[in-house]
Amino acid sequence: MTPAAFRKTVLAWYDRHGRKDLPWQQDISPYRVWVSEIMLQQTQVSTVIPYFLRFMKRFPTVQKLASANQDEVLHLWTGLGYYARARNLHRAAQIVATEHGGKFPANVDALSSLPGIGRSTAGAIASISMELRAPILDGNVKRVLTRFHAVAGWPGDKPVESKLWAIAEKYTPTERLRDYTQVMMDLGATLCTRSKPRCNDCPLAKHCAAFQAGEVSRYPGKKPSKATPIRQTLMLLLENERGEILLEQRPPSGLWGGLWCLPEISDSALLETALTERGLHAGKKQSLPDFRHTFSHFHLDISPLRIKVKPASKQVRESARQRWVRHNSPGELGLAAPIKKLLESL
Ligand code: SF4
Repeated sequence: MTPAAFRKTVLAWYDRHGRKDLPWQQDISPYRVWVSEIMLQQTQVSTVIPYFLRFMKRFPTVQKLASANQDEVLHLWTGLGYYARARNLHRAAQIVATEHGGKFPANVDALSSLPGIGRSTAGAIASISMELRAPILDGNVKRVLTRFHAVAGWPGDKPVESKLWAIAEKYTPTERLRDYTQVMMDLGATLCTRSKPRCNDCPLAKHCAAFQAGEVSRYPGKKPSKATPIRQTLMLLLENERGEILLEQRPPSGLWGGLWCLPEISDSALLETALTERGLHAGKKQSLPDFRHTFSHFHLDISPLRIKVKPASKQVRESARQRWVRHNSPGELGLAAPIKKLLESL
């Protein structure tokens, strides 16, 4: 199939079946496309929609986002996971506001130099909001192209990825860039899905190498498997005499960076030290049921321990990174998902 025929086929399908009413497809701007693309990484459309609407209501412009405090940004992100995305979003907004006068740069290289914006996201912003000729290669497009061309290997491998970029580049048109980018994402999200692709409804089926060979499930190739490591932690629900729980803010980078979490220890032998450091004295203790939280690269087995505490002396040691909150109304803080779940369970 020639590139021209490929484009014509997918664009004709877009005109009839493509999605055109998603919230970020209205009032299209680089800012709105960017926020939606970041939210959509690793997250389904139906989950993203309410988050996107809340985010836009609170931060309608890049300047508003740039001048927000990080806690509020993380709070609006609570539940979406992969919090580095929110921190990068905030930092990138500040760079756009201060270094680019509040306007997104109109080229892929400058866009992809912003925190959290890779080549594919830059391509999506440039093509959808500025109609610039820029290919994209997100998870959906990788799936369509590996199947259509029966590209062997795991798309996360550099040589496979380079091959896919070359194919994506070849097909990208010089006009209708917005529609073309959208249709490539739509095909992957609605027809060429990970499991049970709807090949019989697909406009590319006649020329799709994987489908014609009856080998769709072989593509994309799997990531070479590695056992997921397991880490353990003891989370302390320290409850003062007013029934409030102590939360502490994590350092800005790293796991749950900037989010509010419970104090943690690796071993119960460290409990006394942890309390002494916080100027607290332990009363009654209660172990709560263990549970597992899974990150992309490891499992975290959490053992929660609820402890009534009193100040060890009149001189209570508190810092700006500590807050006592009511478990049923912790306020507008960015909370890590398992912490939110634990507080709600009390
Ligand atoms: S025919 Fe099937 S495998 Fe091929 S691109 Fe279409 S949906 Fe994907």
